[in-house]
Amino acid sequence: MNSWFYWERSIRRLMRIRDLRIVAKLAEMHVDLQPGTPLAGLTSLGIGGKTDLLRIKKHESLPDLLNLLDENRVVYKFLGGGSNLLVGDGELPWVVLQLVRPEPDVVLDGNLAHVDAAADLGRMITLCAKNDLGGMEGLIGVPGTVGGALRMNAGAYGMQIGSYVREVRLYRAAGRKLEILRDDQISFEYRHTSFAPDDMMLAVILELPSKPFKEILQGIRICNEKRRSSQPLGQKSAGCIFKNPPGASAGRMIDELGLKGLSVGDARVSDRHANFFVNAGRASAKDMLALIADVRERVGKTYGVSLENEVVVWNA
Ligand SMILES: Cc1cc2nc3c(=O)[nH]c(=O)nc-3n(C[C@H](O)[C@H](O)[C@H](O)COP(=O)(O)OP(=O)(O)OC[C@H]3O[C@@H](n4cnc5c(N)ncnc54)[C@H](O)[C@@H]3O)c2cc1C
Repeated sequence: MNSWFYWERSIRRLMRIRDLRIVAKLAEMHVDLQPGTPLAGLTSLGIGGKTDLLRIKKHESLPDLLNLLDENRVVYKFLGGGSNLLVGDGELPWVVLQLVRPEPDVVLDGNLAHVDAAADLGRMITLCAKNDLGGMEGLIGVPGTVGGALRMNAGAYGMQIGSYVREVRLYRAAGRKLEILRDDQISFEYRHTSFAPDDMMLAVILELPSKPFKEILQGIRICNEKRRSSQPLGQKSAGCIFKNPPGASAGRMIDELGLKGLSVGDARVSDRHANFFVNAGRASAKDMLALIADVRERVGKTYGVSLENEVVVWNA
C-alpha cells in the first residue's frame, strides 16, 4: 500500500459534509442537513458519537441524493427510531440518513393499511386498532419506526410484522431505483429479512384482520403487562441484545450463569431481563461492546453456543 492510499483513507474516515456545493444541492433535494448531530440523543441506548444527520423530506429525492453521496464518496447508514442500535463513540466516519414523517403517515382502506416507513410503530398499531384492525397487538411496546420494524422483522409473543406485509416500497441501491416488492418476493424470518443491506424501506401496505376494538385492546393490555413485568422499561436499552439460538433462550442461559448485574463501566446486564443490557449512566459503546463480548464468551464456554447479535452494531 502506498502513502496515497493511507492519505485517501484518512480523508474518507474524517469525511463530513463541508463542501458548500453539496450543501446547496441537499437543500434543492429537500434534504435537511443537521451537521455534527450526537447520535446518543437519537438512540434508545443513549450511546453514540457525532455525525451529520440528513433528514429526507421526499422519497423521490433518494436516487439523486444517493448518487450525490456516492459521487463524493460519502458513506451513509439508515436510521429509523434508533431503538435497535449500538452506535460507536467519537467522530463517526459516515453520515446518517433518516426519513421525515409525512402527514398523514397511515391511510386505511378496508383491511389494508398504507403506512410510511417513518411512521411510529406504536401509533400505527393504535390507529389501526381504533379502526377495528388487529393482529399486531404483540408489537405494542416495541419502540421505533415501521421501516425499522420491517428491516428487523420485529416480532413478539408469537407474531411478527412480516406476516401482515402485502407490499413494500423501497429504494434499492443496487439498481439505483425505487421499486415495489410483493410479499411473495420477500422472506421474513426470525429477526431477519431478505432485503439487501442497502435497501431503504419507504412505505408498506399491511393487510390486517378485522377485530373489534375491545378485543384488540384486551390483547394490547395483556402484552403491555407481560412487558412491564419482565423488561427494564424505565432504563436505556435496545431491547434484546442477542437473538435466541434455535430451541433455546439467550436470556435464560445468561440468567442461569448468574450474569444479571454484570457490568463494564455503566453498561450492565439488566437485573430484570438477562438479555436486556442497559446504559445505567454514561456507558460508552466500548463498554457495551466489551460487556457483549464477555457474556458471549461465557455462554459459549458453558453451552457451546455462539450467541448472535440482535442489536445492530454501527461501530466506527
Ligand atoms: C424496550 C425495548 C423493547 C423492544 N422489544 C422488542 C420486541 O419485542 N421485538 C422486537 O423485534 N424488537 C424489540 N425491540 C428492538 C427494536 O425496537 C425493534 O427492532 C425496532 O423494530 C427497530 O426499529 P427502529 O426504527 O428503531 O430501527 P433502528 O434501530 O433505527 O434501526 C435498526 C436497523 O434497521 C435499519 N433501518 C431502520 N429504518 C430503516 C429504513 N427505513 N430502511 C432500511 N433500513 C432501516 C437500520 O439501518 C438498522 O440496521 C425493543 C427495543 C426496546 C428499546
